[in-house]
Amino acid sequence: STNRSMAASPSTIQIYARVRPTRPNTKLHVTPERYWCSPAEQDKPRIGFRVPRDQVAGLVNNQREVYEFGFDRVFDVTTGQDEVFDIVAKPVVLSVMDGYNGTIFAYGQTGSGKTFTITGGAERYADRGLIPRTLQFIFKEIQKRHDFHYEVSVSYLEIYNEIGYDLLDNTRDAKKLEDLPKVTLQEDEEGNIHLRNLAAMPAKDEEDALNHLFIGDTNRMIAETPSNPASSRSHCLFIISMLGRKEGEDRIRRSKLHLVDLAGSERVARTGIGGNLLKEAKYINLSLHYLEQVIIALHEKALGRRTHVPYRNSMMTSVLRDSLGGNCRTTMVATVAVEDELIDESISTCRFAQRVA
Ligand code: ADP
Ligand code: MG
Repeated sequence: STNRSMAASPSTIQIYARVRPTRPNTKLHVTPERYWCSPAEQDKPRIGFRVPRDQVAGLVNNQREVYEFGFDRVFDVTTGQDEVFDIVAKPVVLSVMDGYNGTIFAYGQTGSGKTFTITGGAERYADRGLIPRTLQFIFKEIQKRHDFHYEVSVSYLEIYNEIGYDLLDNTRDAKKLEDLPKVTLQEDEEGNIHLRNLAAMPAKDEEDALNHLFIGDTNRMIAETPSNPASSRSHCLFIISMLGRKEGEDRIRRSKLHLVDLAGSERVARTGIGGNLLKEAKYINLSLHYLEQVIIALHEKALGRRTHVPYRNSMMTSVLRDSLGGNCRTTMVATVAVEDELIDESISTCRFAQRVA
């Protein structure tokens, strides 16, 4: 992986880890000495896991006992949503308001806190996640910038088995996924990506934007049942598009911020599944693999070692083509669960984060 001194450069991805608090009323075990986080202010934030040598089940069938991973910052269970917003999102949002594209990913196994981080929990106001906080911040900032004029619109794209669907489509609840219009990609002569059948809803204020978010999240949940947590098998991209113009200037700055709740990264057991589940698992593994390839290729491109970035391999990387690398700000929050039974997958999550860092 690239060296840490690159982290200051805007073309390099920022990587954070966030540990989900352990949940009451579950049968999952937590052995406190099996994981640790270095303090937030420490020079080299780290997260570590200890895996007993005799542990043969699961993915970490290895001679090592201790796994440690460095991040730009580690958020432990005490970190609130406000702090995650300040550290992870605020710098990206500010650069989007200056006309640069940005992308924020949450990556991790199902149940590790991706949706809580990106969208938030519904129970308490303080649990609002990055999307509502970003919208609030943007509209407050617009109020402050008297010499700027901004137009904001929002879109909400779901990618399931490599097919895109519009989460803001209000005819959605009446139909099965297969019957919905598919979002397709078109590229113009200048290489800009346009998404057909994906609404961009103008939002004049925070409330307007939150309404769209609410509709999209409701559509996400409709497809979901306890035995079929559909939204954890798909990637969901909340897209905030902005047009900004400085008073007295003709130049219009166009920019986009993508807040991406990735599909669960857990590897499905190789045997015993078939049909739709196997198909989903293949698509998810492949699309996360292609995302990794693109981010790694962008690092190498920034270092002058290669020119080609394989965006076209998946729908997500095609959609994000103009929002990764170059002047764009990219950040990833690796969400981690520390129950004994989930540590194997958390180690895989951290390994992924290290590979793209
Ligand atoms: P994922 O989207 O990765 O499948 P969720 O975001 O749905 O996981 O989180 C699983 C559960 O844990 C949810 O009930 C969520 O509210 C809770 N949770 C996740 N992260 C946190 C956190 N940092 N603080 C409090 N609760 C959390
Ligand atoms: Mg989720």
